[in-house]
Amino acid sequence: MILQVALDTPLRRVFDYLPPAGQDNREKPELGVRVRVPFGRQRLIGILVATPLDSAVPASKLREALEVLDERPVLDPVTFDLLLWAAEYYHHPVGEVFAAALPGSLRAGQATLATTQSWVLTPAGRQELACPANRRAPLQRALLAELAEHGGSAERAGAAPRLGLLRTLAKRGWIAAVNFAPDDPLPASPPPGVRESDVALTEAQAQVVEAIGASMLQFRAHLLYGVTGSGKTEVYLRVIAAAIAHGGQALVLVPEIALTPQLVERFRRRFSSGVVVLHSGRTGSERRDAWRAAHGGRARIVIGTRSAVFASLPKLALIVVDEEHDASYKQHEGFRYSARDLAVLRARGAHVPIILGSATPSLETLENVAVGRYTKHRLPQRPGAARVPRMSLVDLRKHASEQGVSTPVLQAMRAHLESGGQVIVFLNRRGYAPSLFCSSCGWVAPCARCDARMTLHRGAQQLRCHHCGAHCPVPVICANCGHALNPVGQGTERIEETLSRLFPAAPLARLDSDTASGRGAMEALLDRVRSGEARILVGTQMLTKGHHFPDVSLVVILDADQGLFASDFRATERLAQTITQVAGRAGREARAGEVMIQTEFPEHPLLNRLIAEGYEGFAASALEERRQASWPPYSRLAMLRAEAKDSGELDAFLKAAAIQGRALADAAVKVLGPASALMARRADHFRAHLLIESAVRASLQRFLAAWLPLIEALPAPAGLRWAIDVDPLQVD
Ligand code: ADP
Ligand code: ZN
Ligand code: ZN
Repeated sequence: MILQVALDTPLRRVFDYLPPAGQDNREKPELGVRVRVPFGRQRLIGILVATPLDSAVPASKLREALEVLDERPVLDPVTFDLLLWAAEYYHHPVGEVFAAALPGSLRAGQATLATTQSWVLTPAGRQELACPANRRAPLQRALLAELAEHGGSAERAGAAPRLGLLRTLAKRGWIAAVNFAPDDPLPASPPPGVRESDVALTEAQAQVVEAIGASMLQFRAHLLYGVTGSGKTEVYLRVIAAAIAHGGQALVLVPEIALTPQLVERFRRRFSSGVVVLHSGRTGSERRDAWRAAHGGRARIVIGTRSAVFASLPKLALIVVDEEHDASYKQHEGFRYSARDLAVLRARGAHVPIILGSATPSLETLENVAVGRYTKHRLPQRPGAARVPRMSLVDLRKHASEQGVSTPVLQAMRAHLESGGQVIVFLNRRGYAPSLFCSSCGWVAPCARCDARMTLHRGAQQLRCHHCGAHCPVPVICANCGHALNPVGQGTERIEETLSRLFPAAPLARLDSDTASGRGAMEALLDRVRSGEARILVGTQMLTKGHHFPDVSLVVILDADQGLFASDFRATERLAQTITQVAGRAGREARAGEVMIQTEFPEHPLLNRLIAEGYEGFAASALEERRQASWPPYSRLAMLRAEAKDSGELDAFLKAAAIQGRALADAAVKVLGPASALMARRADHFRAHLLIESAVRASLQRFLAAWLPLIEALPAPAGLRWAIDVDPLQVD
């Protein structure tokens, strides 16, 4: 027997080993266990992916594996298959794919299941408690009393983090540590208590809950299409309660920025236990513990970002992908996968339903509904008094403006603020001004390393490049002619300055990655808005996701035009989604909402359709445009992206790859390019790509499988990097 092992290396292959010496050869290890192997002079841990009878490697060259680490696979079988499939589909080295799925400590060989430590009260501890006269060490006595109340369980008493104090109690002889057996690999724990919701479902919600509930234990993809605030999360909570009632587990994927403490809190309020959070921002040991809880079955509900789609959930019963259109589901480097797409495949493999929720579904998903692959459920209205806001366009050519804020908008802001409403001002550009300009000779401060301008950050007194991170002090005079320099255009920092000046009585909060980067900074800002202290909220894309501000009655979109004429075929879809999502922050509760969109192109068909017919009307015509131009979802794409310091070498490499591709491609596959990236130079590297297009997914896949080995064999100059991106989100 041969052990085929996926190792975390950039090589697109698996590695063959003989079973470890001393191991009984008839005892076949299960696929998906970890194996420690010699690799060159190193020792690596990989995942066993196959056990063929023989190897293409000559027997004399085969080495023995050192050790099989697990008795049972480290991942549930559906996820194991999903990862193998994903490695093939995304044409990414399988070892790196498995590495992306497992927390670092498990890749390093730590146990996949936790032993839990707890404490028991000793007779001395009980005696101590029984003796009220004893007043020494009040903190320790208080903890002792708490432990006694919870049967000695530090976890249940919420005292597990106070390890230092627990050890002190143990030293005094009041408590003793005990180790519990590892988690049962399959969940035996009873379903967590589900607290009654304090809202009665609307009729539309009730229908959806029932329809999805009726499709448990089989694969079905449901689109939950409801405007922001229409009660999608409430539907998730109810369906999850049903899914886990009989011992199942639920996986909830959310966009990076939406994973807020309030969201997690909402789940924890509803489900008394068994909720864990998995995302890359957590420390290694937090991730490991959450992962173990999922794998061991203690976690009944796993909430996480992108990579949580690979969490091992042996009793998976339901998947939810919230804001399914969100770009953060696509990984943009390394293993470039779409967590949303993989979630659907995982649901199919596990024979469970999946709910894709959005107020602005992706065109791909809407097409899947149109052809009958997904079932659409509408939540047309907001519960209670809340109503969908009224939208209008403000023609920037007709109205005077004060630093980018037009007179009608200023008037509306004044009216809303005076009647007690809060105002959101959205501008997807941070910093003070996007360029620093010499009015005498026309010079604009450039980034030395990119084809881009430097953004002025006045508070930080720096020019910064938003593409490569370069920064420098703000020059006072033009490098060209010595004339004074002026900031041109607006970023959120400048809007903050302008609005603070015009509305001195209205406290303002600014939310962008400059103000919200520190730990807890974003929460603190959002708290200022939720508490009502801040009356104006200025922000970027960060504003769009999921926040609930009951008193916001006016939303202003300062610049709709950024997305109107962009080159990427998804730019208009993204713009429509952003406008709809930001607009959804208005009038979430009793107040009537109003949305004002500033533009220089008020007759633009996209904007007008969006306002007249809403997102759905926009989507219908956008899909028609895609069909006519044969863009996804009516074709399949892959991109070969490359970058190098030398533009000639880059060009030669891509040309050679294109020649090989064209020789290989049949009529169903087109190889387009090379073309420069929209930003042809970034961080001192030239960037270009080939675009591969096919009407048929299988043809594209066959082509890539044949083509990539040829590219790998091409002489690539030192420092040239390339990668394949299947189903790219952006093609410029
Ligand atoms: P979404 O996820 O679509 O943005 P939420 O589920 O967060 O919507 O609901 C928005 C608000 O409406 C929340 O404050 C929620 O508690 C409330 N809500 C949801 N469903 C109902 C209902 N049936 N009756 C009353 N309020 C509801
Ligand atoms: Zn000048
Ligand atoms: Zn730069």
